[in-house]
Amino acid sequence: MNIQILGAHNCESQDSRFACLLIDDILAIDAGGLTSSLSFPAQLKLKAILLTHQHYDHIKDVPTIAMNFYLSSATIDIYSTSPVYDALTTYLLDGKLYPNFLERPPENPTIKFTTVEPNMATRIEGYSVLPVPVSHSAPSVGYQITSPDGKTTFYTGDTGTGLNESWEYVSPQLLIIEVTLPDRFEEWALEARHLTPSLLKQELTIFQKTKGYLPPVVTVHMNPSLEKEIKAEIATVAEALNTEITLGFEGMQIHL
Ligand SMILES: [Zn+2]
Ligand SMILES: [Zn+2]
Repeated sequence: MNIQILGAHNCESQDSRFACLLIDDILAIDAGGLTSSLSFPAQLKLKAILLTHQHYDHIKDVPTIAMNFYLSSATIDIYSTSPVYDALTTYLLDGKLYPNFLERPPENPTIKFTTVEPNMATRIEGYSVLPVPVSHSAPSVGYQITSPDGKTTFYTGDTGTGLNESWEYVSPQLLIIEVTLPDRFEEWALEARHLTPSLLKQELTIFQKTKGYLPPVVTVHMNPSLEKEIKAEIATVAEALNTEITLGFEGMQIHL
């Protein structure tokens, strides 16, 4: 399994993109930086997009990728939960901001949307995909992806503390998890349902107790202007837990 991090931050600029992962060139998770990261031919290789939740930084490129597929007479599968479907059809794809690619062209709409059920594995392009609920300020799932050759990763999407139930459902060889803010913003993180390095440490400690091991960890969704602080605190957590924790970055490639 080849995992490419297209977007590793919670704010967009010339140097940072919104949350977006690409697996084996065909499966995207979250759409915060799809069209801005990929060439047109690379975009057309995409078979499916999985969305974790409805926040704008995770769905931003749904209309733009759909336009490119539409103009190439191609279709794209999008998978997510029913709250995300409701948000997309109510706001982003309601036909007022941009064409409603769920209904256009009428004979073969560009976007084929499939609703996934939490904790029910589904097969997508040969991968086993398990949506696992996480605790965030909007209904959210992380996705455990298992490739045809048995490699497994779990991406949390945005999440706050309280992952103990989620851990019961997953056994990844690589954990990709959000860490949005440094420790001094803990109150803000708890309220907005995000993680800091210390909160990550809590959740990883529970993971280790529950599962009996810790996989290598890659963090995403960092606030770019606070990243130095986050990095220093993550290093302390990695040392305390005696595990590998790496900050993700745009263009990072991971081979599993
Ligand atoms: Zn969010
Ligand atoms: Zn976010």
